Amino acid sequence: MLVGLTQRQGLALVTSKPYNNNTWTAARFHSFIKGALRNASLKWPPRHKVKKAAWRKRGVYECCGFQRKPHLVKASEIQIDHITPVVPKSGFDSWDNVISRMFCDDDNLQALCKACHRDKGKVDRYGRARH
Ligand SMILES: [Zn+2]
Repeated sequence: MLVGLTQRQGLALVTSKPYNNNTWTAARFHSFIKGALRNASLKWPPRHKVKKAAWRKRGVYECCGFQRKPHLVKASEIQIDHITPVVPKSGFDSWDNVISRMFCDDDNLQALCKACHRDKGKVDRYGRARH
């Protein structure tokens, strides 16, 4: 990302604060917007549809399982995962793409328990499982 810049130019780019009355860096602004989108996505109806489909009985949900078979977990363990990650391995591309991947249809969402979601996150980020 900083290819072609001198060290001084690169440092200026990273430390400049063009947002919020010159008090926020681009990175700070970026994570602020991403957090706001993530909060909005909690109300996204397909997410509720997928969670409802994973419901088995009072307080019990079925995790689809990541690198293991589907299994039952308690309600506090279940999370909704984007099968195609919101941010690809290659990194941030554009807000349009982040928004369309985040607010996707239910066929790109699955119910995973916290442990499976964490493991899948590692694979999504690093592109391979660590054993
Ligand atoms: Zn699981």
